Amino acid sequence: MNEKPDKLIDKKGIRTDGRKADELRSVKLQVGVLSHADGSAYIEHGKNKILAAAFGPREVHPKHLMQADRMVLKVRYHMAPFSVQERKSPAPSRREVELSKVIKESLEPALFLELYPRTGVDVFIEVLQADGGTRCAAITAAALAIADAGVPMRDLVVGCAAGKIDDTVVLDLYDAEDKLGAADLPVAYMPSLNAITLLQMDGSLEPAEFEKAVGMAIEGCKKIYEMQKEALKTKYMVVKEVEE
Ligand code: ADP
Repeated sequence: MNEKPDKLIDKKGIRTDGRKADELRSVKLQVGVLSHADGSAYIEHGKNKILAAAFGPREVHPKHLMQADRMVLKVRYHMAPFSVQERKSPAPSRREVELSKVIKESLEPALFLELYPRTGVDVFIEVLQADGGTRCAAITAAALAIADAGVPMRDLVVGCAAGKIDDTVVLDLYDAEDKLGAADLPVAYMPSLNAITLLQMDGSLEPAEFEKAVGMAIEGCKKIYEMQKEALKTKYMVVKEVEE
């Protein structure tokens, strides 16, 4: 979308991609998609397509990053050159370095870092196609990949954004809404523990709108959480059937 349409949401409350204000994009999740990784997951969140691979707990490389009293989580978020309309340089950009950091920090509270000293878990995230909200979708997939690697977790972590387009608070902005809208608020959340592990905001919201957006994002996370659990069950039920 090159020009801003008159309205990002019409009088009937329908957005430019046909969704209602509180509607998620369609989400598809698959666990155990890579045979050379300890754990892996693939997410399609709207038009976003993202792979996550997890390794560990294992020796930390380079060794000087090892911590004597805890596990070290390393995360690399990377966008493929073909993931956006105009070719993106394959070299890590400032944005990718920042997203790697915030995704790592959103996942750490779910891990028992102190129980695995001198070890590391590595998570590699490859964005194959981007359409807004990739950090949130990446968090959803990365948590599944870590769980699939068999790393004990307090809870899964789910990512979902809310924001504001025109004057309306909406759930799960896609690229055009992210770029042309008034605010974007990515949230990562651990549903069983009812804890937010990432909260960022781009743009501006009134206090009441902010509260509404956080509540909406949490509801979105809860819906995706059910799909995460189903995706894990789907893989392990198949393994069980093969073993029997
Ligand atoms: P997020 O993907 O978490 O929403 P941003 O808000 O930084 O992160 O980016 C929003 C969207 O902008 C991305 O999902 C992607 O569709 C698009 N985008 C990001 N980087 C680039 C880039 N280098 N070239 C073109 N589009 C990009």
